[in-house]
Amino acid sequence: MAENKRDYYEVLGVDKNASAEEIKKAYRKSAMKYHPDRNPGDKEAEEKFKEVGEAYEVLSDPDKKSRYDQFGFAGVDPSYGGGAGGAGGYGGFGGFGDFGDLGDIFGSFFGGGSRRSSQNVPRQGENVGARLDLTFEEAAFGVEKEVSAQRIENCSDCKGTGSADGKVETCSQCRGTGQIRTVQSVFGMQMQSTTTCPQCSGRGKIVKNPCNTCRGKGKVRRTHKVKVKVPAGIDNGQTVRIRGEGCVGYNGGPSGDLMVDIYIKRHPIFERDGLHVYCEVPISFTQAALGAEIEVPTLDGKVKFDIPEGTQTGKMFSMSGRGIPMVNNPKRRGEHRFTVVVETPTKLTKEQKELLRQLDGTLDGKSSPKRNKFFDTIKDFFD
Ligand SMILES: [Zn+2]
Ligand SMILES: [Zn+2]
Repeated sequence: MAENKRDYYEVLGVDKNASAEEIKKAYRKSAMKYHPDRNPGDKEAEEKFKEVGEAYEVLSDPDKKSRYDQFGFAGVDPSYGGGAGGAGGYGGFGGFGDFGDLGDIFGSFFGGGSRRSSQNVPRQGENVGARLDLTFEEAAFGVEKEVSAQRIENCSDCKGTGSADGKVETCSQCRGTGQIRTVQSVFGMQMQSTTTCPQCSGRGKIVKNPCNTCRGKGKVRRTHKVKVKVPAGIDNGQTVRIRGEGCVGYNGGPSGDLMVDIYIKRHPIFERDGLHVYCEVPISFTQAALGAEIEVPTLDGKVKFDIPEGTQTGKMFSMSGRGIPMVNNPKRRGEHRFTVVVETPTKLTKEQKELLRQLDGTLDGKSSPKRNKFFDTIKDFFD
């Protein structure tokens, strides 16, 4: 069938980038030229007329045109589609996964495209979104919360039929397919075109007595509440997907999903970076000098920690296993990292000041190695 076929663009004498309008014009011109009425008994004209009609059938249909542009005649020749058998199975072949979109290409290749344009075929409903604000601890340890989201549901009054009396008739014009197919026979060649059925707007069904609640649509927009199980360790900006809680599907197709965006509120003490929790812990000047057992606030509550003597301000310590749990492995947790801030004593009494002076008199260079080094360096500069 496809032997020595001329390129469709060539047949119509248009450029590959020709607009729909240009293609239409070119077709009209050629069709008039080769029309059998004008060329009675001319076999060559008859062939040309058929050729032009076939080219126009493909190039005037955006879906077919794009398949033709991609795959040539193989993309639009019905004999290819017929041999494909379970075209839907292509996506499932393990090896095809590596080719990315190949499954999609085959899907539209073998009739998937026309299926998509038909309106009464099962399709998944749209996804809907919601926002969920969590506390720092809720995000760390997981929580179950309710969110409200707007979605399209089947009307409960008519059970999604759109009919007040429950009566739904199959459209007589399209016999329930939602599409009208016109077949024109031109010298033994069948030319087919498909359009949306005007009587049922492609639904394939007619409701004579529409439901008041949904005005015959069978669907209503409702706010509904969904319990969301937030996994431990979730981070700001991540999304929890809840399958099937989006809009109801079309023609019995599956429902869409609910996508819950997570926002974590600021914590007064803790900050988070990935799996690690950070905070500052003020310690006294004496604790820093002598060492001390201090209490460090963590996600698990206060945890005792030994600060070694001579600890400087700004020193960071970390405790393993006290950070944020990993989402997929909550037993593994990040670190709790805290920075000590040595607080200089203020509002000292006369006696306290005197004690400090006495202490200071006993300190030598070994007590403040940093300061000593600093002043040595300055000396080198300015002497
Ligand atoms: Zn209804
Ligand atoms: Zn119809």
